[in-house]
Amino acid sequence: MLRLDDPLIDELRAHEQQARRQAGLPMITSWVVHRRYTAKELLAAELFCLSVRPRFYPTGEDCGTVYDEARGCTYCGVGANQVGPLRLDLEKIPRRDIAQTFGGEIVVSSRLAAQMEAAGIQGHKLGPVLGRHGKQSQDWFQLLLPTGNLELSARTQVGRSFFAPEPDPARCPEHVLGSRVLSQIHVERESVGEADWHCSRLALGERFGTGRPEPLLFISPRLYRLFVEKKVKRFFVEVARLSERQ
Ligand SMILES: [Zn+2]
Repeated sequence: MLRLDDPLIDELRAHEQQARRQAGLPMITSWVVHRRYTAKELLAAELFCLSVRPRFYPTGEDCGTVYDEARGCTYCGVGANQVGPLRLDLEKIPRRDIAQTFGGEIVVSSRLAAQMEAAGIQGHKLGPVLGRHGKQSQDWFQLLLPTGNLELSARTQVGRSFFAPEPDPARCPEHVLGSRVLSQIHVERESVGEADWHCSRLALGERFGTGRPEPLLFISPRLYRLFVEKKVKRFFVEVARLSERQ
C-alpha cells in the first residue's frame, strides 16, 4: 500500500505512460484508493458519498425486472428506467440492512426502512420487492431515489485510469461524466438540497451486461449518523467536499 503523496506514485505514472507509448498496452490494470478519515473529519463533514458493497448477483434484470430500453440513450443507455416492481431472488440478498445488485438496484431491510421513517429521513421512497414467483417480500423494500440534482464540481477528476490519461468511452456528453471518479469528490454547494438522500445529476460507468451507468449516491450527516448508530453494515463513505461554483 502506498500513500497518495508517495513519490513512487509519480514514478508509476511515468512508467505507465511510457509502457502505453511503447507497447500500446496498460501495465497497471487495477488499483484501489482507500480514504480514511479522523473522527473530527467525519464529524465536520457536510455530505458523504455512499457506496454499498460488496454488490450481489443476480440483478433485478436477471430476475425479470423490466426496463424500458426503448427510452434509453442509444449511446450510454441512461433513461432506460425500471418499469413496475423490482424482482429479485430473495434468497440471494445478503442478510444486512442495505444491499445493492450489480445492476444498481438498492434494497433496504424492513428494519432500516422503519428506522429511517422514525427518524424523519427525507428524499427516498420505498417500493415493493417481489420474489421470483411474484410474492412480495415482507423483509425487503426497494430504495427509490428521484433523479439527481447534485453537480460534481470541476475539481472532481473523472476518467478511466489513475495512472495515465486516456480516452474515456463511458463518457456521454448528455448523461455520463466518465468511467469513475479518480480524485476526492467535490460537489457544488448550491446543488445540494435539504434531503438526506441525494444522487448526482450525471452518472458514472458503462452499460455492461446487466450493469448500467449509475449516479453517485450521497447521504446527509444525519443519515450517516443513523447508519452508524443502527450498526448498518456493508456500506462505505467518502467525505464529499462542498465548494462554491467556480
Ligand atoms: Zn447518454
